[in-house]
Amino acid sequence: MNIAAKDTVCPICGYEFPTTSGSLRWVAILLLAAILFYLLLNFL
Ligand SMILES: [Zn+2]
Repeated sequence: MNIAAKDTVCPICGYEFPTTSGSLRWVAILLLAAILFYLLLNFL
């Protein structure tokens, strides 16, 4: 059974592998920080 390393979802059971890069997670964290910072400025 060959499973391509670039596959993010297991073709057998459909399990989604956790991504090792995590670049998308950092974008989400930065976006959330920007929103929190914006809200904080509005309250000051
Ligand atoms: Zn699987």
